[in-house]
Amino acid sequence: MGLKSMPKPTLKKKTHPPKARSLKVRGKTTVAKAARSAAGKGGFTPPTPGRVQAILQRLDELYPGVTCALTHTSPWELLVATILSAQCTDVRVNMVTPILFRKYPTPKDFAVLTPEQLEPDIRSTGFFRNKAKSVIGSAQKVVNEYAGNVPDEMHKLLTMPGVARKTANVVLGSWFGQAMGVVVDTHVHRISRRLELTQNNDPKSIEQDLMKVLPQNKWIEFSHQIIHHGRAVCFARRPKCAECTLEKLCHAGDKTWSTVAVHKAAKL
Ligand code: SF4
Repeated sequence: MGLKSMPKPTLKKKTHPPKARSLKVRGKTTVAKAARSAAGKGGFTPPTPGRVQAILQRLDELYPGVTCALTHTSPWELLVATILSAQCTDVRVNMVTPILFRKYPTPKDFAVLTPEQLEPDIRSTGFFRNKAKSVIGSAQKVVNEYAGNVPDEMHKLLTMPGVARKTANVVLGSWFGQAMGVVVDTHVHRISRRLELTQNNDPKSIEQDLMKVLPQNKWIEFSHQIIHHGRAVCFARRPKCAECTLEKLCHAGDKTWSTVAVHKAAKL
């Protein structure tokens, strides 16, 4: 057979295995197979009661009996500490509040201040001008409308200046023991998304999702536990996934180490 008449060999198109995810942890390279097909078409697996239960169980083992990290001895102190904690660490707030409450022990003492008088005492917590107005305005409400006592009802707390659902939930949950909602701070926001307890990105919708999937008797504790987890392990940048006991239940797209399928679309 002449060369011209020889049939051309059919070249098979080379197929590659699914791209593996290479992740470095402490100098070692660990490969987590990106079995993304298991993650569902949208890259989000809606939480099942069994999965939620497993997450809660691990959190209980990790952080038994955790409470609010803000130092306080009364609902008023907790309200002020929570207002000051916006965009500020609890450690910083805990440095400021003992001195503040020695200087101004009651809501009455705050209610007669001008913002300019209060600002220097809370300056280091950031956004001090707005915070001064919120604290003084709340003090005036507490004194003038609630006989000096912080109210224990959501709708009343929400009328205070600078108080939204997060602050109201902290006060109701941590002081009054009322599970009226779930505190959604920056850690709860981030980690609830990583654990696929929500797909939403605004605190109000995240809270609604969490209230649907978590049993009500866990609403208060869950936030405390997740806040601790966010500080100790599940950092915003480079979470310590290799040390995380929730790792097998987590399919977040920005894990630093993984033994399970990672959701491509679950990135923050
Ligand atoms: S595995 Fe990683 S991303 Fe997932 S919860 Fe744990 S630390 Fe956070």
